Amino acid sequence: MTSRFPDPDLPDNRSLKAAVSQRVKAFFVMNNTRIYADKRFYFLGAMAASALVLGFALPDDKTPPPAANAMASVLPSFDLTRDDLFLEEGRFDALSETHLTLKSGQNLGPLLQQNGVSPQTAYKVTQAFGSVFDPRKLRAGQNFALSFDGDTLTDLTFKPNVDTTVFVSRGDGDNFSARQLTAELKFDRMRVSGTIENSLYLDASRLGAPDKVIQQFANIYEYSVDFQRDIRKGDAFELFFEVSRDHNGKVVKARNLLFTSFSPRGRTMDYYLFEDDKGRENFYDADGKTAKRKLRATPVNGARLSSTYGKRRHPVLGYRKMHKGVDFAAPRGTPIMAAGNGTVERANRFGSFGNYIKIRHSDGYQTAYAHLKGFARGIKAGAYVTQDQIIGYVGTTGRSTGPHLHYEVHKNGRAINPRTLNQLSGKPIAKKDRPAFDARRKAVDAMRADYAKADLVAEAAPIALPAGYGVLAAPN
Ligand SMILES: [Zn+2]
Repeated sequence: MTSRFPDPDLPDNRSLKAAVSQRVKAFFVMNNTRIYADKRFYFLGAMAASALVLGFALPDDKTPPPAANAMASVLPSFDLTRDDLFLEEGRFDALSETHLTLKSGQNLGPLLQQNGVSPQTAYKVTQAFGSVFDPRKLRAGQNFALSFDGDTLTDLTFKPNVDTTVFVSRGDGDNFSARQLTAELKFDRMRVSGTIENSLYLDASRLGAPDKVIQQFANIYEYSVDFQRDIRKGDAFELFFEVSRDHNGKVVKARNLLFTSFSPRGRTMDYYLFEDDKGRENFYDADGKTAKRKLRATPVNGARLSSTYGKRRHPVLGYRKMHKGVDFAAPRGTPIMAAGNGTVERANRFGSFGNYIKIRHSDGYQTAYAHLKGFARGIKAGAYVTQDQIIGYVGTTGRSTGPHLHYEVHKNGRAINPRTLNQLSGKPIAKKDRPAFDARRKAVDAMRADYAKADLVAEAAPIALPAGYGVLAAPN
């Protein structure tokens, strides 16, 4: 059998999403260091340089490193007593930094006092802090960095978000002052492209795509791609998005995903972000059709397809029988979404189907959902529902062997394979928006071409080596 999405940690769409959203949170909380796609060659260069330095220079070189020489030259020439040594060490330790984390319901003052700051100093620091940052906006888990000179608190640093830093520092005597700095973030764009080796999430993440952008990517393709069955090793992807960089060039914020391309099973699907004149944003292909499908092939997130459409041996009745729908195994209570906009025809008990919902959509389509644990509020015959609205919950009512959703799609009264809904194209862009969309698409393609060219230049450029090592790389 050909390989499925071959990642044991991310077996399906749901855990992919869970992992992504978890990482998205971590990304914004931790402000972690990453290697960006466009910086990876500099990184390799630095690695190569340090490998040369560590691997070749040190073992053969018996002279002490320059720093040690400098130290030796400033050491006093007379013998130090043991007490003097401790004093000297004490001086080096005098400037220390401590990190404190705010607990739920805790204020800055008590936090400082619990960590050895006197009530008077804690009061003054809190007053100064409050003059630039509203203490009611403090949240559990936020961190403060405190610097001490011996036992004396000299300053406090607080970063409420990636853009902002609050400094409280000791001035004359016991007075503290506070200021808030907002970092100048530089707007930039970034292009990440590659092929699937492990999983979309891991591979895109490794190339430097922020989690927020990968999450957007998953949201775009969830209508057209079955993340369990359509993804193969070697499938190509590209993400082109906006970022904010700090003064060191480090990406600190992911902004809009502008363009995305994905080729599951060699079927390339490109989508462009477009905002219409009413400010509504959507992703459209080059023909102006939305990434969303009229009807969802999979109306539950994170479900495992447990039985496909077609002839099979019935699990309860035992004989071969046409399976007129698909079954998704999912935990009891998993929300079920309306496959598309439509009117509820029935939402009640229906024989062996147990709790059952049928929705009538336009163009002769109907969708049906069986074995539900229960119905969402307001779901009854005659109710109008919109795509992705939660209509009920996975259960095992009726003739069923365990919690699963039995899902059927009918076209003009006849059952069809729900998987074919993937191929139905999305709603086209409004005619009046077409010229603006075409202009936008061309602009994005031109930007992508520029970034692709820059990537090629970076790849072709030789790795910069420190002076003296150039000869190693020179051809004879
Ligand atoms: Zn079924």
